Amino acid sequence: MSRKPSFRVQHADRSGIALQLVVKAMLLVAFSLFVGWVFGAMAWGLAIGLLIYLILHLRNFWELDRWVRFRSVLHPPDLSGHWGELTALIARIYRRKQFHKQRVANLLREFRRLTAGMPDGAALLGPHNELLWFNQKAERWLGLRRKRDVGLRIENLVRYPAFIQYLQRGDFTHSVTVCQQEAQQRWLSIHLVQAEGSKQKLLIVRDVTHEIRVEAMRKDFVANASHELRSPLTVISGYLDALAEDTQLEQTWQEPVREMRRQSERMRTLIEELLQLSRLENSGDLLDDQTVDVGGLLALLKKDALSLAKRPAEITLQIETDACLRGAETELQSVFANLISNAVKYTPVEGKVVIRWWQDADGAHVSVADTGIGIAAEDLPRLTERFYRVDAGRSRDMGGFGLGLAIVKHALQRHGAYLVIESQLGQGSKFICHFPAERIVPRVSLSAAAN
Ligand code: ADP
Repeated sequence: MSRKPSFRVQHADRSGIALQLVVKAMLLVAFSLFVGWVFGAMAWGLAIGLLIYLILHLRNFWELDRWVRFRSVLHPPDLSGHWGELTALIARIYRRKQFHKQRVANLLREFRRLTAGMPDGAALLGPHNELLWFNQKAERWLGLRRKRDVGLRIENLVRYPAFIQYLQRGDFTHSVTVCQQEAQQRWLSIHLVQAEGSKQKLLIVRDVTHEIRVEAMRKDFVANASHELRSPLTVISGYLDALAEDTQLEQTWQEPVREMRRQSERMRTLIEELLQLSRLENSGDLLDDQTVDVGGLLALLKKDALSLAKRPAEITLQIETDACLRGAETELQSVFANLISNAVKYTPVEGKVVIRWWQDADGAHVSVADTGIGIAAEDLPRLTERFYRVDAGRSRDMGGFGLGLAIVKHALQRHGAYLVIESQLGQGSKFICHFPAERIVPRVSLSAAAN
């Protein structure tokens, strides 16, 4: 086991050394004066004595200076007295520095070896996003060059617009995915990590081409399968409708035909929801930018809910703003319809549903609150996953597939909005859609445009 060298600096007894120096100087002066008195020239004796004293110190100083300058190749000079103490002190400080330097160099070598073998690319950025260091994977995937690029700002080297926006936004909670359109299409996920209080950033880059391809294949598969199922199902439903309307149908077949119609209707709803989700996932940016009268839309949806046979006794709508939203009307309608339909489904008849539309400094908001069965805390994070149902049996009985909230989440994302769910088991739930202020279209600007 290697033993850590001890660098305990023994501080010289400074007052003792000073006293020694004074005593030595006084003895020299006394001796020089004495020799001068013997030869009858005391002044000369003193001058020669001091000159010799000075020459001795200058020689020590010169030797120490030469060693300090070339200490890596020279041995420390063998000096006595105060000069010897000084030399030992410098030698100790130098050895200590060498030890720490070696330790840092070993650590750095180990770090380089580890990062070179890392499956991810890594780069270190300085306070002005200048490139300080990067490993081989980052070099290959981001096209960096060791000699040329160190010291340059990352935004001048990695020029994907999505990455530049991510860097400028300064919110590094999530990663950003960029696509390299080279000979072979490659998808890279770039994540910046900034430690609290540090001005430097660590850039982690991962090749996610495989994951993106698998995800695209999954989406295509669901979309294609749903499309392919739609046509035969329309035919089957058509025949079942005809059979149900046939007055000559045998009594024994009437109930099975009714059940088959119910089930085919369920399948049709499932296919429609899957197709809707696929459309939301696959159609990139929101193109359908209409001005949506949210208050009017909610009023219609409330009316639909009130017309249901089985519903909570009280359904109220609070419209606190007359503003509109810029977005896709069908998508927003689907968002609010899903939330209201869930609130109605999961609230008993004696319960209450409150729909609210308001605006504040943070943007515009729609909330749907109910006094229904509520949701346990452990289920909340998974509610917007596809096919996730807290109680699959109960949801199925109510005609749900667990796709509604996934549709809500995707549609809101396309509007730059997000969903917050607050709920307590047995107490009720509140689903709030938060829309950014830039989506709001004030009513005044609408009437001004009309004039
Ligand atoms: P579903 O079609 O099954 O209602 P959703 O995606 O709309 O699917 O909802 C997922 C699950 O979230 C539901 O199965 C239900 O368990 C729960 N949930 C949604 N809304 C409410 C609500 N208002 N109150 C209680 N549970 C709810």
